[in-house]
Amino acid sequence: MATIFEREHTVYMPTFKRQPVVLVRGEGCYVWDDAGNRYLDLVAGIAVNVLGHAHPALVGAVTEQAATLIHVSNLYYNKPQVEFAELVTSLTGMDQVFFTNSGAEANEAAIKLARKYGKLHKDGAYGIITATHSFHGRTLAALAATGQEKYQKPFAPMIPGFQHVPYNDLDALRAATSDTTVAVMLEPVQGESGIYPAEATYLRDVRSWCDSQGLLLILDEVQSGIGRTGTFLAAQGYGIAADITTLAKGLCGGLPAGALLASGAASCFEPGDHGSTLGGNPLVCAAGLATLRTILDNDLMTHAATAGQYFLERLEALKVQSGRIAVVRGRGLMLAMDLIDVSAADLVSAARERGLLLNNTGPGTVRMVPPLIITTAQIDDAMRILEEALATL
Ligand code: PLP
Repeated sequence: MATIFEREHTVYMPTFKRQPVVLVRGEGCYVWDDAGNRYLDLVAGIAVNVLGHAHPALVGAVTEQAATLIHVSNLYYNKPQVEFAELVTSLTGMDQVFFTNSGAEANEAAIKLARKYGKLHKDGAYGIITATHSFHGRTLAALAATGQEKYQKPFAPMIPGFQHVPYNDLDALRAATSDTTVAVMLEPVQGESGIYPAEATYLRDVRSWCDSQGLLLILDEVQSGIGRTGTFLAAQGYGIAADITTLAKGLCGGLPAGALLASGAASCFEPGDHGSTLGGNPLVCAAGLATLRTILDNDLMTHAATAGQYFLERLEALKVQSGRIAVVRGRGLMLAMDLIDVSAADLVSAARERGLLLNNTGPGTVRMVPPLIITTAQIDDAMRILEEALATL
């Protein structure tokens, strides 16, 4: 009989490099495969499962909402959407929100919003400056915003209007600004390229530059948001506010959802400018409410900061002790390390065989974005397995 792997290879488009395990169940920070093996999950569905797996508050809210009303379209009002919009705007300090189904879609909407703002307030300016090594998603405008040629090349030509400058380099940003520039779009912590936090003053300086030039600041917090770095938005930890912010991943605890948020004149969509059939439906909004309320009730943002700091210190110690790690980086529970003469893919495999899920973002870089509920005992466990796995390579 064909295995799941063989069946998948036959019918599923080969876009993903998957780990050779079939995951069937999860609870807390653990998942189990179809052979009954347990894994400590430091991937969390790529920074999505903020409450871990099968959290009772989320399961309860989704079960109850599913039995009540799953979807009605945005032709009608629904209560969970308005309640969720109130909570998300209050946590972010942004004026208004629009719910999408993914991060890429939130960024597409952000790009449209900036272009609309340019038409209304900046003589039709439409240019957006983004960073090299950034990642904003796979749809065409988000891909054009993404500063990585490897993702763009097969789909050229890109849609016009994007310029890429080195991250953490204010002079490059200033030099790239022209009359046609309407916005700067950045991740406060670059995620997909291997967890590169913005330098302390960079985002504040970018904010000032945008203010002085009348540019919008768009922060893509799809990966860095939802408490992962210790504050609801990473930008709040840097002491700045964006004009436009995007969220997704952990927003609804694992249900597919994203958000476009904007403040002041930047929130300039009018009826007919944008839409979504499924975005912000009652089911995902009920899941989002349960997710965010659980984060607040359990102070998981503070926990993410302290657990992240502990994890970072343990990784720094392993770096010194093993001599196999060049750099450790992170902010809260967004962590990565660059390896010395070790393939990150090999380390991911060796760790998986020992019951630990990690993710390699590059040939020598491993990323850790665990659930926000991870305990220090679980971090100790992860470190023990990492050490063992590293010693075999
Ligand atoms: N923006 C950032 C910063 C991301 O990390 C990602 C996904 O990794 C995206 C956008 C795209 O999100 P999605 O995969 O939900 O479209």
